[in-house]
Order: sequence, then structure tokens, then C-alpha cells
Amino acid sequence: MFIAFEGLDGSGSSTQSRLLAEKLEGQGHAVLLTKEPTSSTPIGKMIRDILQHRWECSPKGLQLLFSADRAEHLATDIEPALKNGQVVITDRYLFSTIAYGSLAVQDTDWLASLNEKFRLPDITFLFKLDPKICIERIQGRGSDFELFEEHEKLGKIWEAYEKLADQFENIHVIDATKSIEQIGEEIGIIADKHLDS
Ligand code: ADP
Ligand code: MG
Repeated sequence: MFIAFEGLDGSGSSTQSRLLAEKLEGQGHAVLLTKEPTSSTPIGKMIRDILQHRWECSPKGLQLLFSADRAEHLATDIEPALKNGQVVITDRYLFSTIAYGSLAVQDTDWLASLNEKFRLPDITFLFKLDPKICIERIQGRGSDFELFEEHEKLGKIWEAYEKLADQFENIHVIDATKSIEQIGEEIGIIADKHLDS
């Protein structure tokens, strides 16, 4: 079972990916909780360096790095874990690169083609939250803004996510205005249903 969490920065996806991992582990499942950009490869480090302005890279170069990172992530972490029967939970995956990337390169077809050979998640949880609230939450988290966290752009990025939710199967749009507990419960029910089937 391969589960992805997606949404705008600040929408609460990392919080819920951790909670679901804990919950499923508590139920006796073997779980791999992972994320993109990866923290396990030099490519993931390059991507973070670009997002945090330590290195400037062209928008297309950055998109290619995301794809390279994903190829490595699948080959070294995700596929072996799935083969072992583990539940793999990834905090961000290809819908995030397509949604965020479509703003940077304005060529969604190219981005989709870069990703078309990659395994799709069995379930995707897409967190829906007003960009204004996302920004408030990020500020509360106390981290510096990354390149992608500029307010006026988040609305457009959300539109791209919504288009993807129409195009692909098994995307559950989550009302991220609810409490952490309520969302956790909702997600747990959906995940249990898939794991039982
Ligand atoms: P993301 O990974 O989507 O950027 P995080 O999970 O890191 O979001 O959450 C961003 C901030 O919002 C954190 O401070 C987190 O504690 C808080 N948060 C997460 N979920 C909720 C929620 N449902 N209601 C209120 N605050 C939340
Ligand atoms: Mg996060």
C-alpha cells in the first residue's frame, strides 16, 4: 500500500503523515514514513539548497532534479519497502511537483510527461486550505519562507492541485480547516478501508 500526502505548505500534510504512520504502526503494520524532496540522497539536498536560495538553478533544471530525486526514491526506498509488504507513506510526491512546478515552468504537459513512468500512489490525501491560513500556520511554525511559500502564488498552485484531483484516481480531498484530531480520524478510516480490501 502506497500512500501520498499532498497540499500547499502549511496545510498540515506533514503532521498527518506522521500521525497516520504512528496509527498504522500501532495497529501492527510495518510502515515506511518518507518524504520528497528526499533526505536520503544528494539530489534531495540539492533541491533544498535551491528552494532555500543557497544555489540558483533554472526552473526547468529544478524540475528535472525533482524527477531524478523521485526515480532514486522509488528505486532505493519505496519499491523495496512495498516488495517487503510495508505500508509506504510519503510526505509529498509527484502531484506536488506538478502543481508547484506548473507555476515555475508553465508547461504542465512537460511536467506530466516527466512523471508519467512513476508509480502512482494507491491513495493520495490532498489537503485543502485557504492560502491565507496556510501562511499563518507557516509563520506559526517559525521557519523561513522558502521560494514556493509566497502568498500570491499559492492560489494558483492550489488550482493546479484541483485539476490533478479531477484527472487522477484515488485522490481524497481533505478539508484541512478541521482539527488535527478530526482530520486524523477521517484519514484513518479511509486508510483502514483500503488496507482491509
Ligand atoms: P505542511 O507539511 O502541509 O506544510 P505542517 O504539518 O508542517 O504542514 O503544519 C504546519 C503548521 O500547522 C504546524 O505548526 C502544525 O502544527 C499546524 N497544523 C497542522 N495541522 C493543523 C490543523 N488541522 N489545525 C491547526 N493547525 C494545524
Ligand atoms: Mg510539510
